[in-house]
Amino acid sequence: SFHKSKGQHILKNPLLVDAIVQKSGIKSTDVILEIGPGTGNLTKKLLEAGKMVIAVEIDPRMVLELQRRFQGTPYSTRLKVIQGDVLRTELPYFDICVANIPYQISSPLTFKLLNHQPAFRCAIIMFQREFAMRLVAQPGDKLYCRLTVNTQLLARVFHLLKVGKNNFRPPPKVDSSVVRIEPRKPRIEVKQKEWDGFLRICFNRKNKTLGSIFRQKNVLSLLEKNYKTMQALKLSQGGSQEETDTKMDFSSLGDSMADQGMDMDDDGDDDDDGMDLEGGDAEEEQSEFKDKVLGVLKEGDFEEKRSSKLTLQEFLYLLSLFNKAGIHFS
Ligand code: SAM
Repeated sequence: SFHKSKGQHILKNPLLVDAIVQKSGIKSTDVILEIGPGTGNLTKKLLEAGKMVIAVEIDPRMVLELQRRFQGTPYSTRLKVIQGDVLRTELPYFDICVANIPYQISSPLTFKLLNHQPAFRCAIIMFQREFAMRLVAQPGDKLYCRLTVNTQLLARVFHLLKVGKNNFRPPPKVDSSVVRIEPRKPRIEVKQKEWDGFLRICFNRKNKTLGSIFRQKNVLSLLEKNYKTMQALKLSQGGSQEETDTKMDFSSLGDSMADQGMDMDDDGDDDDDGMDLEGGDAEEEQSEFKDKVLGVLKEGDFEEKRSSKLTLQEFLYLLSLFNKAGIHFS
């Protein structure tokens, strides 16, 4: 019996299991993390290919079935099963992750993996097709969104395989895709809260020009408030205080990532996800600050550009221009 809530769609096509393992590029020395092994069809091939498999499975009945399947075989000493919710499990060291996951954890799992240290070599993961296409989207693609940019900041993502629903029992409602995620080494250093606040504004209306996004009163008043707070801080601290750089840390963003990742109707056009953009009625007082903000956009030639078409490098560059001008997003 299957639990819909646990997304238990078992891979039934052995050729597909072979293709996934083959495309993973597993080495015989690899420690493999498998998430959601289920009855162990993929697990068996992973054990054949690598040195060791650590499998995290939430369902105790599946854990039992898995242990029974490999008991008394030469594989049993190289398989370690952890029973638990992968999102709440402290992950061990691994070289490579291979997983056919329940789709409801796609977004938080992706960011959990990408924040894991030391960084693994790559992850080969089955996702819902649309989620996969968001991860690999390029500027200008319809599915290019905040999730895309946040993921590509941390990793390079490649589409490997299209997988139809009928490869699973029971078949899920949606088609799937297997992608390969390679963490960037070294990481691109950003101030996490700055980056997140910046991208939320940019993708609030991803098809509008940045000029019109940054002319919005609520955006300007938020940025001006931050600006004044920073100026006051600098004065009180002798003008030398600089925010220290931190590594990208999404651990506190798990929920918002999940919201975005799983809301498949959200094309990013009306993504009003809780940022406080209220207030801002003092048009006159704002004009000087507004010129400052628009000056930054002009300096980088961003005024007529749209987030839906900006590359990761352009986002990083624009944020650096804002910060250089003392304009902050957190
Ligand atoms: N890997 C198997 C296969 O390909 O046939 C099963 C894949 S099935 C889509 C997802 C598996 O993940 C199920 O065995 C389910 O019990 C397990 N699972 C669901 N939520 C989980 C979670 N939060 N942490 C760990 N495992 C989970």
